Amino acid sequence: MAEKRKFKKRFCKYCETKVDYIDYKDLQQLKHSLSERFKIMPRRLTGNCKRHQDMVTISIKRARQTALIPYIVDRKNVVESPFELIR
Ligand SMILES: [Zn+2]
Repeated sequence: MAEKRKFKKRFCKYCETKVDYIDYKDLQQLKHSLSERFKIMPRRLTGNCKRHQDMVTISIKRARQTALIPYIVDRKNVVESPFELIR
């Protein structure tokens, strides 16, 4: 329950900002849909719509292939905020 409350708002933030294309190089944008271990957040948690979630998924997978985002994060290496590594 506590986890669910974190994502209370149910609207798609990409629709709100009228995003038509999600760039895989734009990590600041992808960050919203990544968990702290660089997993793709499910739609039921982020509240993204199907269309944008698909775009996010493709972008994240593309970013992984270009080594912008790690595929896996070592359990020992879990930092307080891992996103500082990619900045
Ligand atoms: Zn949307």
